Amino acid sequence: MRLSDRVNRVTPSMTLAISAKAKAMQADGLDVCSFSAGEPDFDTPDHIKAAAKQALDQGKTRYGPAAGEPALRAAIAHKLRTENQLNYGPENIIVTNGGKHSLYDLMMVLLNAGDEVIIPAPYWVSYPEMVKLADGVPVIVETTAATGYKITPDQLAQAITPRTRLFVLNSPSNPTGMVYSPEEIRALAQVVEAHDLLVVSDEIYEKILYGPTTHLSIGAVSEASFERTVISSGFAKAFAMTGWRIGYLAGPVALIKAMNTLQSHSTSNVCTFAQYGAIAALEGPQDCVETMRQAFEQRRRVIVDRINAMPGLACVEPEGAFYVFANISATGLSSLDFCNTLLEEKHVATIPGVAFGAEGNIRVSYATDLDTIERGMDRLEAFVKTRL
Ligand code: GLU
Repeated sequence: MRLSDRVNRVTPSMTLAISAKAKAMQADGLDVCSFSAGEPDFDTPDHIKAAAKQALDQGKTRYGPAAGEPALRAAIAHKLRTENQLNYGPENIIVTNGGKHSLYDLMMVLLNAGDEVIIPAPYWVSYPEMVKLADGVPVIVETTAATGYKITPDQLAQAITPRTRLFVLNSPSNPTGMVYSPEEIRALAQVVEAHDLLVVSDEIYEKILYGPTTHLSIGAVSEASFERTVISSGFAKAFAMTGWRIGYLAGPVALIKAMNTLQSHSTSNVCTFAQYGAIAALEGPQDCVETMRQAFEQRRRVIVDRINAMPGLACVEPEGAFYVFANISATGLSSLDFCNTLLEEKHVATIPGVAFGAEGNIRVSYATDLDTIERGMDRLEAFVKTRL
């Protein structure tokens, strides 16, 4: 079969591939401890499910506007205004088939062949591949544990060329769990303004923060910064709605219109009755979000302490999201060999750092229960001991 150059340029998502492999092994009766997908183990809160069921019963089963139900776009705009100090109206919002879809659409409507997109590494697995699918060029800027895996304003300024079209900022970060402080965000905003750069701020983990950590959207720093920012987010992580596939993007009207055109020829609207669940998520009680956050915080404490107590492994304490990024270089194994052997020998699923542009590390998702964490860490420890 002759396939397009476009699809031949990209590799399949390793997060999805390893998660599927772990699930298949579990279906075969194996006791797998899975730390692979960034998927909360909680069920979607009842009031959200009830709203979608009610919408289904009320006949919300037909095509809707490609950009999303007007009531959902209004609820998202209200959330961004009141929670994030981002002055958007419903016309600035498009509802998409998940955060991943928002970002894919964005690359498709923004990039021409050869346009550059600045992506700090470690990065979420799909960012560079989406850029390549849109004929763009990912410009990877490496960061290290020493700077908390954060891009510095100098690094950002140095990566800018006349071909730069976009800067991808993700805080809290997948895969490191690092969160840019308000001061760090303001410093990056200065570079964005000075160079008239466009930034997409992926804020899907904004509600999963630990300790005194706070989230500041780069779009809220100043009017100049707001004009140069688009926001990508969704419902999957904060409300345990991964399978619902509802995300959104907020930005200038011209951009939203272009994305709407693209969606009108590709996906049409997101599942109509599911969007009513999303409205309930935004407008209903928020204590469910806090309950899940507290559970993640408890798990983070256990997993970070276990990993840092293991000879040969080390991690920086994450400040948000539900990932630990652990350095495995003392084992001498490539991250791919490490994860494959760990899965085969010990039935523990993790994601190799190479998928995130950071060899010598693994990503461990702690969106799973404490018992699995304890058993999985016992196995990981036993595995690492045999490799030192
Ligand atoms: N974003 C999640 C992760 O990184 C889900 C899988 C994916 O879409 O890549 O594990």
